[in-house]
This record gives sequence, structure tokens and C-alpha cells, in this order.
Amino acid sequence: MEFVDPVEFSVWGRVTPGKVGDFRKWISNKLNISLLAAHQLFGDVVKDGNLVEIHSECSWSKIPAMLSCIPEFIEPGSVVVATTGIYPSKKEKYCEIHNVYFRLGACTVCTDPPA
Ligand SMILES: [Zn+2]
Repeated sequence: MEFVDPVEFSVWGRVTPGKVGDFRKWISNKLNISLLAAHQLFGDVVKDGNLVEIHSECSWSKIPAMLSCIPEFIEPGSVVVATTGIYPSKKEKYCEIHNVYFRLGACTVCTDPPA
């Protein structure tokens, strides 16, 4: 049977100030929404320096590939990984081995390493 990884991960990062226009174009393409809608939905997130979700619902094995395709408008060093569905913040648990934010129990990568 094929290995099934039930937990999915998202990659987050902060938009570099000054590259907000590039982000807006990218997110409007990704979500198939207008630039105006992108501004309305994400304007405050970006302005406040909060993280935006760059890739979502990736299995752990895909994370290295995802981390190597980070859009240019993302601030270097701001990229973090979290289980999909949670916002990576100090309120969540963090595994220093895998550099991943998670909420329940222990780090799923530690407890159930993909084959
Ligand atoms: Zn871990």
C-alpha cells in the first residue's frame, strides 16, 4: 500500500514592504479574484506585517520542494511551516527539529515520520 500522510502542511511568509503589488498580483491569480478583492482581503494582513499562506495542503515530503519555490515578494528569513489550518504564531507549539508549528499533541513529523 502506498504511504499516506494524513497531516498536511502550509508554508507561510511575510510580504516584503515595497513588493505588495507583486503579492497582490500573485494572490489574485492564485485565488482567481480581482486585484481590488486581493487588496480588500489581504491589505491589512500585509500592512500589519502578518504572515500570508504561500503554499497550503502539502504533504511533509513535498515541503522541501515548496520551500525552494518561494515567491520573490516574500521577505527572506520570514518563511515558516505550520500544519494546515493554524496560523503560525507563538501561541502554537513549535518543533525545533522540524521547524514546524502545530497545535495538538506532539509534532506529527517526530511521532509519525513519513516512510
Ligand atoms: Zn518534529
